[in-house]
Amino acid sequence: MKTNGFLIIIAGPSGAGKSTVRKEIIKNKSLNLVYSISSTTRAKRRGEVDGKDYNFVSKDEFLREVKNNEFLEYASYCDNYYGTNKSFVDKLRKQGKNVVLEIDCTGVFQVLKKFKKSEIITFFIVPPSLEELEKRIRGRLTETEATLRGRLKRAKEELKLTDKFDYVIVNDRPERAAKEISTIIKNALALRG
Ligand code: 5GP
Repeated sequence: MKTNGFLIIIAGPSGAGKSTVRKEIIKNKSLNLVYSISSTTRAKRRGEVDGKDYNFVSKDEFLREVKNNEFLEYASYCDNYYGTNKSFVDKLRKQGKNVVLEIDCTGVFQVLKKFKKSEIITFFIVPPSLEELEKRIRGRLTETEATLRGRLKRAKEELKLTDKFDYVIVNDRPERAAKEISTIIKNALALRG
């Protein structure tokens, strides 16, 4: 029988560069990683693809899935819902894939309650500074001033939670940060055998 894959959690404030780092580590085929595509009620950003970056759903659809217990975890983040599809993650882990969840801290704590510590590796990505974080969120040009402020407020709250994570990674350069994470995952896979 195949051993279940790890759950690899990538969290950190909006604008820390989680998606860029995640896309970089997934390129490393030897790690056998697969990204868990979340469902969200937020509007699609320019360049995002439905079914690849997120499953974009209506609020009604999301709440129906909550009611049907279809999420491994879910959270409300700056006026939108985000959730991880339970059956998608279970299926892939059973195939031995290491599943990457890129989620907020509320979601992380829900996941931590449901799995054994030995099944999970948690990473918290931080920007080099708060100034840099704001610059990155503004640089996206996708946020209104109000949502930007909401995201920065949430970022400051999340930055207080770093001690809850196995590893805190400074995203000074995405390739470097991804390399650091990849090495940690590689060692964890080797240790488990
Ligand atoms: P964004 O709107 O910038 O794509 O995501 C906002 C926040 O929601 C980010 O911190 C992101 O990691 C988080 N997020 C994305 N998908 C999920 C999910 O399935 N569950 C939870 N709890 N958070 C998510």
